[in-house]
Amino acid sequence: MERTNKMNVNLNIQAVEGDLFYFYSNWQANQKNKIHKATCSFCCYGTGRNLQNAPNRGENGVWIGPFSTLALCRNYVEERLNIPNPPECTVCL
Ligand SMILES: [Zn+2]
Repeated sequence: MERTNKMNVNLNIQAVEGDLFYFYSNWQANQKNKIHKATCSFCCYGTGRNLQNAPNRGENGVWIGPFSTLALCRNYVEERLNIPNPPECTVCL
C-alpha cells in the first residue's frame, strides 16, 4: 500500500486544551504502566520516545488518551482496565 501520503497532524494541542493525560499500557514491562502528562518526555502526546526508532508501534504497549483531567484518566484505568490505584510517572506528576 502506498504510504507516502501521510496526514500532517498538528500535535500542538496543549495551547488549546491545557494539560492532557495519557496512560501507557505495556504488556511486556508491567513497571512501565503509568499515567503521564502529555508533555512528559516519556509520553510526548502519546507517541512515546524514540520517534525515529518505533517501527513496531503496539508491539509492546500502547498509549491510551488523551484525557482532559488526571481524574478522568485514573477513572478509566481503574474502571475499564481494572487496575486499582494506577501509578503515576514520578517525572511529570
Ligand atoms: Zn511522565
